[in-house]
Order: sequence, then C-alpha cells, then structure tokens
Amino acid sequence: MAAKQQNRILYLRTFRSRPDHRLVVSLALAVANPGKLVIVGPAEDEARLRQWTRAHVSDDNTIHQHIEYIVCSDDQWRREVNLQISKASCVLLYMAPKRRKFPSLRAPKAGDFEDFYSSPVKEPVTGPGLLREIVYLRRLDKLKSTLLLCAASDLPYFSRLLRDLPIHTGLGPDMTPLLGFYLFQNTPKGLQPMVPRISAYDRQLVNLRAARGLISFRKGVFSRSSQVKFSHDLTELVNQVIRDSRSSRVQPDVMLGRSPRPRRLPPDGARKIIEFTNVEDLLYIPRYEIADVGLAEVLEILAEPEANHECLSCGASLSDILFYVRGLDRAANSSIRGRCQFCFEPMIVESGQLRWWG
Ligand SMILES: [Zn+2]
Repeated sequence: MAAKQQNRILYLRTFRSRPDHRLVVSLALAVANPGKLVIVGPAEDEARLRQWTRAHVSDDNTIHQHIEYIVCSDDQWRREVNLQISKASCVLLYMAPKRRKFPSLRAPKAGDFEDFYSSPVKEPVTGPGLLREIVYLRRLDKLKSTLLLCAASDLPYFSRLLRDLPIHTGLGPDMTPLLGFYLFQNTPKGLQPMVPRISAYDRQLVNLRAARGLISFRKGVFSRSSQVKFSHDLTELVNQVIRDSRSSRVQPDVMLGRSPRPRRLPPDGARKIIEFTNVEDLLYIPRYEIADVGLAEVLEILAEPEANHECLSCGASLSDILFYVRGLDRAANSSIRGRCQFCFEPMIVESGQLRWWG
C-alpha cells in the first residue's frame, strides 16, 4: 500500500473561485488505487473542501486520505506549481470556461491591417493561471503525462478547438511558427485577417495538442452509473500514464528564479542568462543564446520624452516586455530586442526609441 501511495496525481483547475468539490471527490476516489490526488491552493480553499465533504460524503475521512492538499499563498503559487508538476506521475488538467460557455476563436469578419492592430487582444478563453500552467507543463516535459478533463457539454467545443489551434494561432507543436502561414490574406473584399487577435496566454493552448488524452464527465449529475464509468475510464488512463512516465522526471530548479549564470532553458535548451526576471514569470522565452536586459537600463535608453513606454502592439507596460540581446556576451551585441509577454509581438530598442521589429 505504501509503495502505491507514492504516485502523485496532480489536479490543476481553471477557476479556484468556482466550487468543484464533487469533481475533486470523484477524482480522488478514481485515482486512489494508483496514488494520491495532489491539489495546490490557499488554506481557505482546503477548509471549504473539508466543510463540503463533511456535509456531503458519508466517510469523509477516507476521502482525505486520498488527497494531499498543499497550502500555498498567491505569491508562491508559480514556484510551487512548478515543483508539484515536476513531482507528479500524472497531471489532470480541468478546463472550464470563464463564463457559461467558451468564447469563439474565429478571425474577425472584416477589417484591414490597421483595424486588426487597433482592436483589443481577445480575452483568454480560460483562466490565465491555467494557461500559465500549460507553459510549465511543456517546460517540464509533462504534457505526455497530462490528461485533459472537461464537462461533457464542452467536449464538442474542446475537440474542435484542439483540432483548429494551428489555424487560430499559426503555431505548430512546440510553438513553432507554421511555414506558409499568413496573418492576412488578399481577398476580393481587400486584406482580411485570417486569425483572431489572441494573447500570448491563448497561444499556449497549442501545447495541449501534445497532451496524453481528453476525458469528459457529466457535470452536476454524478449519477451512480455515469460515476462508475467515468472512474473506470479515468483510472485506466491514469494507470497507463503512470506506467509510461516513470523514466521522465525533469528537475524544475533550473526553470525557476533568476540567475546571472547561463542556464539551459526552453524552448530550445540553448544557454540563456535570465537575471532580471523569474523564469516562471515568463510566458515566452526566445530561442538561441540570449542575455536579458534590465528594465532600468532600457528606461535610460528610452529617456527621450517622445519615446514610447508601452508595447507598440497591445499597450502592455514595459515591465511586461522581456528585453534581451542575442548571445551571452553583452559587449558583442548592442541591439536590444524586446518580446511582449502579453501579445507576443517582437520589438527593438533603436536610437532611443522602441520600434517594431521582425
Ligand atoms: Zn504587447
């Protein structure tokens, strides 16, 4: 029994504010044989879960033997989630919409280049926290150990979304740009955008195509028969993932915090110096050898009153832009590039100005 309990099945969910106690109990029971359900969250959420199980589950102490609740404050959350992802044998990622339904990711019907870039970036289709977790799953090589969970009513949307993501984002697996993919196309009506204007967060959804599987459950009505079927299917999938994942444990330490020393970092494993930002705070890390540049230095260069102090594309503040130089040696590289962490657009700092680049 003790050996079996060593498997950690990490449960990640979109919105903490929405009660998912019934689902948590079902998951804990379904994975009780291979291991423990691990949940990361604030103390008050754990208290609410305990309160709910006391009121609704006949043998609630047994349920809590199958759950390991890791209490963590908001400012430690990114670091803790990274650690827990790296320790997990299997990850269950519950995707839920922010409102009642997921928003559409279709391209805007009309508009030219200027309309497109002056329109706001679409709100993320699901919680930014969960989309950030998808980044960590990729970095820690855990997507192949990840099972996606969604309500049966969201399954058609989800299947379609996963299928169409390269069309929406222009990105293939590993976030690589698709060859021959164009943002705009010439049509009889003029230049038309081919994609919605989505944020760096939603682009992370592309990674979900590499997840191990997708399983749905009937929301609300956990009738005995549907509960049995769901548990059976889930247990089987979790066991398969655990069997295959034994040999792939990536240490998360290198992916966390800041360091003046070069580290091999995603997406390409090239040596990079990231010393002014925590790696876990970055959604997008450029390829090749790079060294980041502090905001203070960039502000000094952009000292002219007419210099732009926000992202040229989405208006995010300079602190949301990763500034860097190519290579590890600052002396040999004078041009400072920037990559907005919210809209993904590349920029360059040139002659005291922030300019479009690429
Ligand atoms: Zn931006």
